[in-house]
Amino acid sequence: MQSSSTLDLAVNAAKSWLEEINERPVGAIDDLETLRAKLISHLSDEGSSPEEVVNDLVEATKGGLLGSAGGRFFAWVIGGSLPSALAADWLTSTWDQNAALYACGPAASVVEEIAGEWIKELLHLPRQSSFAFTTGCQLAHFTCLAAARAAQLKKVGWNINEDGLFGAPIIRVLTSEHRHASIDRAVRYLGLGNKSLVSIETDSDGRIRPENLKRALSASSAPTILVLNAADLNIAAFDPFEELIPIAKEAGAWVHIDGAFGLFARASKQKFHLTAGLELADSWATDGHKWLNVPFDCGIAIVKDRDAHREAMTISASYIAPENQARDQIDWNPEWSRRARGIPVYAALRELGKDGVADLVDRTSRYCHAIVTEIDKIPGAKMMWEPQLNQGLLRFLDLRPGATEADHDRRTDAVIAEVNASGEAFFSGTTWNGLKAMRVSVVNWRTNDEDVKRTIRAVENVVRELQKTEPEPAC
Ligand SMILES: *Cc1c(COP(=O)(O)O)cnc(C)c1O
Repeated sequence: MQSSSTLDLAVNAAKSWLEEINERPVGAIDDLETLRAKLISHLSDEGSSPEEVVNDLVEATKGGLLGSAGGRFFAWVIGGSLPSALAADWLTSTWDQNAALYACGPAASVVEEIAGEWIKELLHLPRQSSFAFTTGCQLAHFTCLAAARAAQLKKVGWNINEDGLFGAPIIRVLTSEHRHASIDRAVRYLGLGNKSLVSIETDSDGRIRPENLKRALSASSAPTILVLNAADLNIAAFDPFEELIPIAKEAGAWVHIDGAFGLFARASKQKFHLTAGLELADSWATDGHKWLNVPFDCGIAIVKDRDAHREAMTISASYIAPENQARDQIDWNPEWSRRARGIPVYAALRELGKDGVADLVDRTSRYCHAIVTEIDKIPGAKMMWEPQLNQGLLRFLDLRPGATEADHDRRTDAVIAEVNASGEAFFSGTTWNGLKAMRVSVVNWRTNDEDVKRTIRAVENVVRELQKTEPEPAC
């Protein structure tokens, strides 16, 4: 059976990838040119056998894969895949259901219905809320903000579905200066334009102060959407929801939360307090593919006003026969045909249970704290942000006398590049308050004590080597 031997090849390749993930270099080995040379060939007339296709794909991509599914990858915010979630993802592709309608995939519809209810329960969000499993947090923002746009315009007598945006009242979107750029893109997708964005200044802890929100709100009486951070990507700053949301509600604003990874702090008793008051918002966007550790692609949009959400997304067509009792995903999702991406979420939540998710959040946060504070003890390393959750910042100093901030910026970039080149761990950089920093983001279920030790040792070696090769100061 040709099909079965092709799948066997894939299963074996997947298994050896996972078995080797802790031993192979975390960074990619091949450069761009090499990868192109290995992968681009002419599109043949005659095709190839499926076995040949899979074998070649495995060989040609080997050197170009990041070990982000492994335990020593701390760049950006990229989760791994829990065993059940990965297996469920394989099956999702195998079953190949079109999860647009109950009629096209009855089991997929019910699994997603249950997974969505579980997510609301786990994250302590209003139980009447509607939800959608989108490709990622970007499209979850789009979905939630489409509902927000419609609802805010409806309040001033404008029907967005019928009349569109030409001639509509201006909407403004107030957001943190430390927002994720996916908010800007969602606003663009929605036709509101970048000029509708108003950045609100934060304090040095990355949080919006109530006075600043009040000032921004009082600047105009236009229909308003406020977007708050449930963990920004640099330091995991949570805006003070308990103070801010009532002020925004009083002014008639729709409050949306960017909780791509930070929303999962609500699953932990230890971390829940960071998110107090977040349930007062109108909509929440988060990810399955970050802290919940399901494979890409999986975001989740949650909207308190079900009708606003449904009106923004639903469509009827002559060939759609709605099932009265069943959940048709097309009523809530921006896509038409779609993958049943809620199935891996269902699997991950069943595997972990509520306690397991809490433990994942607490454990990875503890590891982040250990990595940042231990590296801080290395001469020349400096903690810029002590992790309160799973994100921290470090800077590396050029120890030559008279070294400037620009020298420290260069040193920080060099440490990141050298650690990544060592293959021992993988980090990414950022700029925080005008200074270069190394970000430490821990979200992978695989990260363990040994990974943490090995990572600290790798950074220590790189810092020591760079100091050894330090040229004498020019003066
Ligand atoms: C990753 C991230 C996003 C974007 O999420 P995608 O799943 O990549 O679309 C938005 N906001 C924050 C804070 C993030 O970390």
